[in-house]
Amino acid sequence: MLLLVRCVLVFMLCGFITEGNLAKERLSPAKPPLQRYEYSRPQMGTIFRVVLYARSENQAKTAAEAALNRVDALNQILSDYVADSELNKLSATAGTGKAVRLSPDLWAVLQKAQKVSRETNGAFDVTVGPLVQLWRRARRQHQLPSPEALAQAKAKTGYQQVILKKFKKTAELRVPGMQLDMGAIGKGYAVDEAMLVLREKGIKCALVDGGGNIRVSKAPPGTKGWEIDLSTSNRTDHIGGQKVYLKNAGVATSGDLYQFVEFNGQRYSHIINPFTGLGLTDQRRVTIMAKNGTDADWLSTALSVLPTPEGIKLANRTSKAAASIVWNADGKLQQEQSHRFRQLKWVK
Ligand code: AMP
Ligand code: MG
Repeated sequence: MLLLVRCVLVFMLCGFITEGNLAKERLSPAKPPLQRYEYSRPQMGTIFRVVLYARSENQAKTAAEAALNRVDALNQILSDYVADSELNKLSATAGTGKAVRLSPDLWAVLQKAQKVSRETNGAFDVTVGPLVQLWRRARRQHQLPSPEALAQAKAKTGYQQVILKKFKKTAELRVPGMQLDMGAIGKGYAVDEAMLVLREKGIKCALVDGGGNIRVSKAPPGTKGWEIDLSTSNRTDHIGGQKVYLKNAGVATSGDLYQFVEFNGQRYSHIINPFTGLGLTDQRRVTIMAKNGTDADWLSTALSVLPTPEGIKLANRTSKAAASIVWNADGKLQQEQSHRFRQLKWVK
């Protein structure tokens, strides 16, 4: 009798559990698997690419469009090519004594840029605009800027001449003719912001690439991370085998070993040494991994300007940053690595 009661009880429980599971399945049908989607759009003088994993094309497309629209909006704020960008409107007030109230985005980027300028003692400086424009013109006209033109442009630079007021979120540019240039931090900020939009749209696993300024979130399904190749080559040498799996991080490279303008046998890079006003003359390729795209972007430019030992120290003391500096010594590539870069596990 006791055995029979036990059997009935077990049977009833089994029945209850089975019913319960069925009810649950009816309420939430199996989710479709995550699939890879890719979208791109020209923006900020480069191509912005979004790779993401979503459960439907509709979700993927809506999220990617929202993220790329965010990049468009940031370009309208941060670009020095768009005549009526917020950045150019601010630059137009230079020397008038006016403190201009900034949008949250311009405030965030400019405040970060100023902090970084202090940390690098001015090696990174978003007031290099007049020098950048002088060198752009030199490249177009195939003519080295005159010493007078260089001195005049340099006199309109200096991050110490930008006054930020935290409480009112205003900026004042103190010297007439000052021109801000976000070329070394804006794309990094844009990929971070695009990633935030993707997350708001329910996308947890994505890569946003703005012309080599990359931000990744969670690893693609079934992988250890996004595979990123950090190897470097020149015509005669190659540093290979430096592929990593990355997640929740930013990556950027600066100073392509072949992007420069040449006058009288001397090569000048598009990155300016703010202390001399000249385009950099020692070509190096800096690769940074950092906690986000903004850090990777500014660090890659700062380490292009700073002497190598100082740059490596800066990477070592910046939270979660890893750096590699590669240069060309008579055709042979040399590499200096920060301590976190040395600890990276390469993909076999
Ligand atoms: P990137 O390719 O990220 O190294 O950025 C290079 C761009 O940043 C240049 O094209 C300029 O617009 C700007 N730039 C050049 N030199 C500097 C500098 N020393 N500090 C900040 N921005 C710079
Ligand atoms: Mg940069």
